[in-house]
Amino acid sequence: MRYLVLSDIHANLQALETVLADARTRGFDLALVLGDLVGYGADPNAVVDRIRELDPAAIIRGNHDKVASGVEDAEGFNPIAREAAEWTAQALSRDNRQYLADLARGPLIVDDTMEICHGTPFDEDAYVFDELDALRALKAAERPLCLYGHTHVAFGFYRSETDFGDLPVSRDAALSLELDAQYRYLVNVGSVGQPRDGDPRAAYGIVDGDKRTVYLYRLEYPIERAQGRVREVGLPEVLAQRLKLGR
Ligand code: ZN
Repeated sequence: MRYLVLSDIHANLQALETVLADARTRGFDLALVLGDLVGYGADPNAVVDRIRELDPAAIIRGNHDKVASGVEDAEGFNPIAREAAEWTAQALSRDNRQYLADLARGPLIVDDTMEICHGTPFDEDAYVFDELDALRALKAAERPLCLYGHTHVAFGFYRSETDFGDLPVSRDAALSLELDAQYRYLVNVGSVGQPRDGDPRAAYGIVDGDKRTVYLYRLEYPIERAQGRVREVGLPEVLAQRLKLGR
């Protein structure tokens, strides 16, 4: 079974369409979505429609999905995120808002080897920023491979009884990570629609269950078009600019 892994799409339709086209040429059976379908970007309805068409095998909510759909208020959001969430709430169709409001809270077990969460397995809204966070997340995970999002940084960690470290995620090459049965893994495939690791290319992953391998990909996409849409709908200019910076 090959799983397409998408996280932090953030209403960036241009990035999502580029990723889906690439993933279809590589081939996948089922889709996993790790939350934050909307927020920041200009096309929340089209993005939610595309995700619904994918009919994901597992999908969980992100913090932006909760705020935009009215599950949670914007307390804790910075002014820019709050403005974007308010705009998104207005822009969403009733049907798509309900779809987001009904998304499950992570973590979610996918199969014997894999689970997904938005932030961490112990708290859907917590960030994995450093090694301490990663260790805590690895200990809380119930499956050997835990996929997470929320930081918008493609990264990963491994752990065994005696060993702990981070994965060699390189900017220049697609990472292919063969899973060793002795280790447990925590992997962020990166953000489709708003990367923040200094690489503005759209990020996504494929997990091949038979080969026990995780692939991380980066793709050029029409950033100017996504920026143009952000300006067209009147979202804060900084949200257009950061797409180009990958920050
Ligand atoms: Zn996010």
